Amino acid sequence: MSRVAYVNGRYVPHRRATVHVEDRGYQFADGVYEVCEVRGGRLVDERRHMERLQRSLAELRIAAPMPLKALGMVLRETVRRNRVRDGIVYLQITRGVAPRDHAFPPAGTRPSVVVTARSLDRERLEKAAAEGIAVITVPENRWPRVDIKSIALLPNVLAKQAAREQGAKEAWFVAPDGTVTEGSSSNAWIVTASGKVVTRPADHAILRGITRTVLLDVLAANGLELEERPFTVAEAYAAREAFITSASQIVMPVVSIDGRPVANGAPGMIATVLRRDFHRFAEIG
Ligand code: PMP
Repeated sequence: MSRVAYVNGRYVPHRRATVHVEDRGYQFADGVYEVCEVRGGRLVDERRHMERLQRSLAELRIAAPMPLKALGMVLRETVRRNRVRDGIVYLQITRGVAPRDHAFPPAGTRPSVVVTARSLDRERLEKAAAEGIAVITVPENRWPRVDIKSIALLPNVLAKQAAREQGAKEAWFVAPDGTVTEGSSSNAWIVTASGKVVTRPADHAILRGITRTVLLDVLAANGLELEERPFTVAEAYAAREAFITSASQIVMPVVSIDGRPVANGAPGMIATVLRRDFHRFAEIG
């Protein structure tokens, strides 16, 4: 089946879906994005993703290209046209097309909107979750506003590639004080020896993951104790469990960090339960 992308008001064949060379996303990474899980053809946590999008746009002073309700319709239509049952929908908004100049373009420049959708192999993801993944650690080298979901992802790209080259699936950024901030495309969590679930507070040093937000409810419902505080790499090495969260990975157990097994090197019980229960707490449209 041929894929379809939404580009600035039109649904076009994916292979011919293009933006202008002077799009500010292309030239300056001057834009924001969202990735939403699709499950059974429906969007997961659309409201929260839209709220975060609105915040990212406001922080960067990019105008909303259309009412959020209309944007939601475009997301759903893109999912429908691509016949995605289980997968993701990607939305990107940039400051638009204008002659290259670092400062903002003239008022009235229309933001560019691109939406794509694709299927993910759910069986493969479940298999990965049953096995768990390896992560490596890398020095934090991003700007201090990664709470904004900007498309400027060069450090994340390099970190993920470093992970690949070391046979791992994710890289955790480590701040100069030795604490883990988050993954290159996920939030980072550990479970301590005493069974407390630890994740970094959502300040400017991490993206406030939607999966992270929903998981706080899953934790509470399961009577699990949460500690929202930074944790060190040393603590992670000694953890009983570790896992990552993101819209596409949900809850993914981490079974090794920098080549050292986490506990006995198998996915932990808490991560497995959280993964199992996640969609009962998500808003499925
Ligand atoms: N941190 C980063 C850097 C990410 O790219 C992502 C994935 N978008 C996340 C955290 C997790 O966010 P979410 O749960 O909303 O997918």
